[in-house]
Amino acid sequence: QARMAGVNSCRWFTESMNTKVQQRFEFENALRKAHSQREFELYYQPKLDIGSGRVAGVEALLRWNRPGCGLVSPGEFIPVLEETGLIVAVGAWVIDEACRQAALWKEAAGQPFHIAVNVASRQFAEGNLEDIVRQALLAHDIPPAMLSLEVTESAVMADTERAADMLAALRRLGVQVAIDDFGTGYSSLAYLKRLPVDTLKIDIAFIREVTRNPGDAALVDAIIAMAHSLGLDVVAEGVETAEQLAYLGRRRCDQIQGYYFSRPLPAAQCAALLGNQSAMAAEAAPGVPQRT
Ligand code: C2E
Ligand code: MG
Ligand code: MG
Ligand code: MG
Repeated sequence: QARMAGVNSCRWFTESMNTKVQQRFEFENALRKAHSQREFELYYQPKLDIGSGRVAGVEALLRWNRPGCGLVSPGEFIPVLEETGLIVAVGAWVIDEACRQAALWKEAAGQPFHIAVNVASRQFAEGNLEDIVRQALLAHDIPPAMLSLEVTESAVMADTERAADMLAALRRLGVQVAIDDFGTGYSSLAYLKRLPVDTLKIDIAFIREVTRNPGDAALVDAIIAMAHSLGLDVVAEGVETAEQLAYLGRRRCDQIQGYYFSRPLPAAQCAALLGNQSAMAAEAAPGVPQRT
């Protein structure tokens, strides 16, 4: 097998320390360029409201169209954006771009759709997140309640004081806050009670085996019960099967997100899905005879 250390800049090789450093350097430079060259794109994954069977909104997910390499997944480049601090600028773009897209959908459908955006902990610490969010909402005329910010449990736990302050400030703007990847970050339940949030998103790790592993099922049941007793909505991430959906429905989970309903889609494809949704809504509107 040929070794192409230093040649293929799309992959990381571990042959030598130098190669690794070199690769990392190139990767960082490519990411820096990506931002100015507009190589980033948002995909959108719908969330399904289990009770009504309707799309409850979408989550914006960052993608990188790296020239010569195709679509690079967030798992590969988000950690580097975070380590380099580039996430602050890219994250601001994500918020503005998601609001811009939401405004287009609102205009096309005549009604606003809920849109969620992921926020990294460095955006709390370094960017002026509150101003960035306020400006994006104003610029695109999006009602604040239509925007959710998703922050991971581990980011919140890394600096609980600052996180709580920042989340409270964001909620005063009228936007919603969701704790992402819940269940993986060892937050204490007592702390959760004091955290100003609206929604818990149960991490995919607990959903994967929920219909087969009694331990996971017990944890999911407990998270849903606890969230509801605190007045929070619950979203299950990574739902891939009808069995998982049925289980979560029985447990009164509020929403699901996952490949079973839809993968993350480019804006145009997602619009088709949301368009069908408004057609469905029009059909079910009061005054229109219901089929039974
Ligand atoms: P996340 O916010 O928890 O997003 C859910 C991830 O699960 C997404 O991965 C999504 O594509 C994937 N997923 C959804 N349904 C299923 C399913 O049924 N099965 C499986 N196996 N996976 C599913 P993605 O898009 O690769 O994003 C990974 C993570 O990268 C996100 O996790 C989020 O933490 C981060 N991320 C993505 N976009 C942004 C962004 O704009 N800013 C920041 N700060 N982080 C982002
Ligand atoms: Mg998320
Ligand atoms: Mg998650
Ligand atoms: Mg509810």
